[in-house]
Amino acid sequence: MHFTLPNLYTLYFHHYSLLFPLYSFHFTPYFCGRIMSSEMIHTAIQDYLSKTGHESLNVKAIMFDMDGVIFNSMPLHANAWVKAFSEIGIQFSEYQVYLNEGRTGASTIDEQFLKYFNRHSTTDEQHEIYRIKSGFFRQMPSPELICNITDVVDYLAQNDIARTIVTGSGESSTLDRVEKLFNGQFRRELMVTAHDVTYGKPNPEPYLMGLRKLGVAPNEALVVENAPLGIMAGVAAGVFTIGVNTGILTKSDLASAGANIVFDNMLQLLDALPVLTGTQ
Ligand code: MG
Repeated sequence: MHFTLPNLYTLYFHHYSLLFPLYSFHFTPYFCGRIMSSEMIHTAIQDYLSKTGHESLNVKAIMFDMDGVIFNSMPLHANAWVKAFSEIGIQFSEYQVYLNEGRTGASTIDEQFLKYFNRHSTTDEQHEIYRIKSGFFRQMPSPELICNITDVVDYLAQNDIARTIVTGSGESSTLDRVEKLFNGQFRRELMVTAHDVTYGKPNPEPYLMGLRKLGVAPNEALVVENAPLGIMAGVAAGVFTIGVNTGILTKSDLASAGANIVFDNMLQLLDALPVLTGTQ
């Protein structure tokens, strides 16, 4: 039997499609994206339920981190930290800033002192370096909103899903900006900030406080985070935690922190919200 090249291809393709009918969808980006992501979401929910022992995920509220989730502020923070550390001869990369996001300034500084100078930093040194970092940060323009975050928040408002901010930041001017830019869709009294907590992320405390303020149980909420330590806090609070990779980390950085699902951007999250929240 003699096969020409096109015939061989046709035979192979048809056989392959018969044996693995779903595999052919992989060649169609639209179907692939919709069908596979829906399956992935259901699998992630099942995985969450089996890990936590809850019978269902019944979403009534969403808790958003702020830096890197609401505002595209991480490039500015990263730049300020790199400059501040370089002033004392410490090489600290932007990637390290992203990995350490959520850690207190004092802890970040102390870790680098141990690495570079083989000793702990003093409180004065911590204050001084943090003052320099804050100085650089304040010289920068106000951060823009993360692309498509307003669409995500609008969707929640339209579907009566409560929402709040849970952040390690204590900058009242930034929190005021959130209230203004989202036309009151985030209420200040429901927010959890640096002023409310003792431990901060990765401790579950901030997200547990968020649940209390919203009046919902862990399996009635979602957490949206961009940073490994924030993801760890959400997971430790028993909440289905979504990583949205808005920065320079890899997807596996967020997955290995325990995220129940990881998206590349807010559009992917928006696309998944009907399934995640049962509002489709
Ligand atoms: Mg963040």
